[in-house]
Amino acid sequence: MHNLSIPFLVITMLITACAAPNTSRINYDSNELDAEVAIQRELALKKYLGYKQRLYTVSYPILKSASQFCPNKQINSAGAQGASSSEFQDGWRVTAEKLLGSDNFVITWVDKNGPAAKAGLKFKDKVIAINDVPFDASPIKNNKFYTEIARTQTSESPQVKLTAQREGELVNLIIQQEKICGYPAVLSESDAVNAYADGKRIIITKGMMRFAQDDQDLALVIAHELGHNLMGHIDKKQSNRMLGTLLDLAASANGINTQGMFGSAGASAFSQDFEAEADYVALYYMSVAGLPLEGVADFWRDMAAEHPSNIGSNHSASHPATSERFLAISKTIEEINRKIAAGEPVKPNLID
Ligand SMILES: [Zn+2]
Repeated sequence: MHNLSIPFLVITMLITACAAPNTSRINYDSNELDAEVAIQRELALKKYLGYKQRLYTVSYPILKSASQFCPNKQINSAGAQGASSSEFQDGWRVTAEKLLGSDNFVITWVDKNGPAAKAGLKFKDKVIAINDVPFDASPIKNNKFYTEIARTQTSESPQVKLTAQREGELVNLIIQQEKICGYPAVLSESDAVNAYADGKRIIITKGMMRFAQDDQDLALVIAHELGHNLMGHIDKKQSNRMLGTLLDLAASANGINTQGMFGSAGASAFSQDFEAEADYVALYYMSVAGLPLEGVADFWRDMAAEHPSNIGSNHSASHPATSERFLAISKTIEEINRKIAAGEPVKPNLID
C-alpha cells in the first residue's frame, strides 16, 4: 500500500503542473492598471479615515465625561484630529495628498460639541501654526507639531491659538480646550475582532469596528477598555499576561491556545475579576456620557452567537463567559437606573 502511493503522488503532480487556464487572459495596459490602483488606494484611504472618524466620534464624549473619574490623568483637548500626507509611505502619500487636498496637516475630524468646533475650526482646514509656532507637514517639522500639541495638552492653560488656512485665507482661532481622560482611542488595522488597553491607550481593531456595527456597541467596547486603564489593571506586573483584551474568546474559538499568553489558571481567575470590573465601570462611563444603556447587554448575546464555545462559565478561562457578562451588565444597568431615579450620584460602588 505504501509503495502505491508514490507513483500516484507523482502522477498527480504532473497533472497539476500541466493544468492551465482554458480561456485567454484579458489584456490591459499599465496606464489603466495604474489608474485602477489609484482609485482603489483612494477608496482604502477614505475607509481608513472613516474608521478613525467613527472611533473619535464615539470615544470623545466618553473620554470627556469620564474625566471626573480620572483626576490624575486628565489632558487638555481641542476635540479635533488631523492627518498629513507625510504620515504615509510611497504611493500612499500621493493618494493622501490628493484626498486631504494638501501636503499640510489637515483637520480630518472635529467633535461637533467640542472646543475646536466652538472656536470655528472646520473639517479640511489646513493647520499652519499652533501658538504662533509655524510648521510645514514634512516629517521632521511634523514632530514639532506633535510636540506642540502635546505641550498644549499638558500645560496649565487650556487656551491654544491655532492658525488655519481655509480656501486660501488665514484664520486665527482661540480654542479653550477642555479636560478629557488622557487615554486616546487608536485604530489597529488588524481584522481580528478585538480591543485592548495598554495602560496608555485604548486600541480598537478594524475587525471589532465591523463587529460592533452599532455605535452603542462600540461605545461599550471603548468604555470597557477605558475601565482597564482607569482602574489601573495594566500595571507593570500584569502587562505581560493580561493585555486587557476584550476577548481572547475570539482567539480560543478559533482553536488558538491562549493559555500561554494569559498565564496560569490562577492569573486567569484574577483576570476574570478585572474583566468583570471593566464591564461594570464601563456602564457608569457610558451613563455619565449621556449614552443610552438599554439593550447594550445584547452585545454579549451577539458575541455568544458568533462564538458559542464561550457561553458556559469556565473558571480557568481568562474572561467571564458571555452569559455571565450579559447578566452582570443587565444588573449593573438596573443599579445605575435606581441611582438616577433616587437622584443619587452616578458613581461605581467602590469597596474599601
Ligand atoms: Zn477586558
